[in-house]
Amino acid sequence: MNIILFGPPGSGKGTQADLICEKHNLLHISTGDLLRSEIKSKSNFGKGIQEIINTGNLVSDEIIIKLINSAIKKDNDFSGYLFDGFPRNMNQVSLLSKLLKSKDIKIDCVLFLNVDKSILLDRVLHRKEAEGRSDDNEKTFKNRFDVYCKETQPLLQYYKSDNLLREINGIGEIYQINQRINAELETF
Ligand code: ADP
Repeated sequence: MNIILFGPPGSGKGTQADLICEKHNLLHISTGDLLRSEIKSKSNFGKGIQEIINTGNLVSDEIIIKLINSAIKKDNDFSGYLFDGFPRNMNQVSLLSKLLKSKDIKIDCVLFLNVDKSILLDRVLHRKEAEGRSDDNEKTFKNRFDVYCKETQPLLQYYKSDNLLREINGIGEIYQINQRINAELETF
């Protein structure tokens, strides 16, 4: 099974991704995590990325597809992939679709974690205390959310017309949201 996990910043994609991947033996591919580990490696390349992330804008599609390409390993013991935080704009949708075609991989569903904007900022500020992410502050969140509305949210319509979209109520306790996801995935 191959899944795209979709949702606004702070919707809990990373947390739910870990649970889904454990239960279904999927390889978790998070562009946010890939970028953060690139930054940690202290390469020059990583330095530029940190600046972009701190503004809340999107990193270039070229960098993203390179990271995704090297993260997809066909000869692994996993039963599929879970893409988290990707694709984030229409160009990334077509880059992903080309890449997957060349590797003979098909997306089975797009899980949309739906969470109200009013709740997202609280979650992000809470995560700042727990994880210290430099982009988890009110100013950057505002831009991340605007970028999401402008660039990413329109993809929902696209996936809906492809019949891949499954909406999950992302409000509640972690285990409740996970149960909703499990119930949805049982239909596959
Ligand atoms: P969140 O989902 O909470 O915004 P992520 O860890 O997914 O957090 O992303 C953090 C930042 O990394 C984004 O604000 C953006 O700058 C960059 N980023 C992550 N994924 C992508 C992507 N697919 N394309 C461009 N930039 C990305």
